[in-house]
Amino acid sequence: KLGYTNPEKLEIDVEVDQQLRPLKFEDFVGQEKIVNNLKVFIQAAKMRGDPLDHVLLTGPPGLGKTTLAYIIANELGVGIKVTSGPVIEKPGDLAGILTTLSDREVLFIDEIHRLSPIVEEYLYSAMEDFKIDIVIDTGPNARSVKLNLPRFTLVGATTRAGLLTAPLRARFGISARLDYYTPEELCKIIKRSSKILQIQITEEGAYEIARRSRGTPRIANRLLKRARDFAQADENLAEYGGIITKEVAEYALKALDVDEHGLDDMDKRILLTIIEKYNGGPVGIGTIAVAVGEEEGTIEEVYEPYLIQEGFLKRTPRGRVATELAYKHFGLIRTRSEKQ
Ligand code: ADP
Repeated sequence: KLGYTNPEKLEIDVEVDQQLRPLKFEDFVGQEKIVNNLKVFIQAAKMRGDPLDHVLLTGPPGLGKTTLAYIIANELGVGIKVTSGPVIEKPGDLAGILTTLSDREVLFIDEIHRLSPIVEEYLYSAMEDFKIDIVIDTGPNARSVKLNLPRFTLVGATTRAGLLTAPLRARFGISARLDYYTPEELCKIIKRSSKILQIQITEEGAYEIARRSRGTPRIANRLLKRARDFAQADENLAEYGGIITKEVAEYALKALDVDEHGLDDMDKRILLTIIEKYNGGPVGIGTIAVAVGEEEGTIEEVYEPYLIQEGFLKRTPRGRVATELAYKHFGLIRTRSEKQ
């Protein structure tokens, strides 16, 4: 499954992300409240000559957490080191990274909910008073040494806020949750990306891609690149001269199996499970999780928010319910069994 609307970062995105990632607040579209607050905090930290307080960024994949980390470093005028939870296997790995930071530098830890408990333990004192205990030598000679670290800003990112331990969460002075983007905002992002990549696109073409990008900039950029391929190379589109018009966008999105709302494969499986196996619900999240083969928490924090926002799904005290709109989306009609 190619999954063009999968919000997760794929191998092919790495290069695109680098190329299109805004490096200044000025180029970062949307999330106004978060951006405005961060600007104040950054300005204040700079005026005092202090590192910025640690920042926790949460929200579904592809919404700009990594991008914001880079922007924060840039606007602070400091460097950034980038790593991720699963990569830091041992306390020694963490100490290795922390000791190479320069004063006030940003350390970005993606997927911070996946840090091992021991590493996390070590991170506490590093975050709190810029000190870390390391154990040198082994066996009877093993002893613990306190190391002073440079003052730094930890920017942690997670799609799964629910998996963060309370002590770790408590050590972030600044915390922000990113939201899905409106089609208008995604349209802006697509037009900016088109400029950088020298893609010709009309307003309507950009909008057509925007509204089917699942509220996610990463998907919008991915679909833009694929739409360009169709505009340039599909012989049926020769008359459009390589420009992404609304017609070209529609044609390309159809070929890519991206539906009207840009729902991804897992979105569809969740909805169809509720509709087909449980007669529209209500059905418990645990049951859905087993049926679609995905973790409960991931469904709650990554997939559900979009389905709820778009009106396909409702949370009720008795479980999840597929809405009328969800039935319509799949061309199905709601039937009530007699016993219900
Ligand atoms: P996350 O870390 O949340 O998974 P990223 O920061 O890697 O998401 O975002 C993916 C890509 O989407 C970025 O490389 C960037 O090109 C684009 N992007 C994300 N947010 C924005 C935004 N607010 N404005 C413009 N482009 C954005």
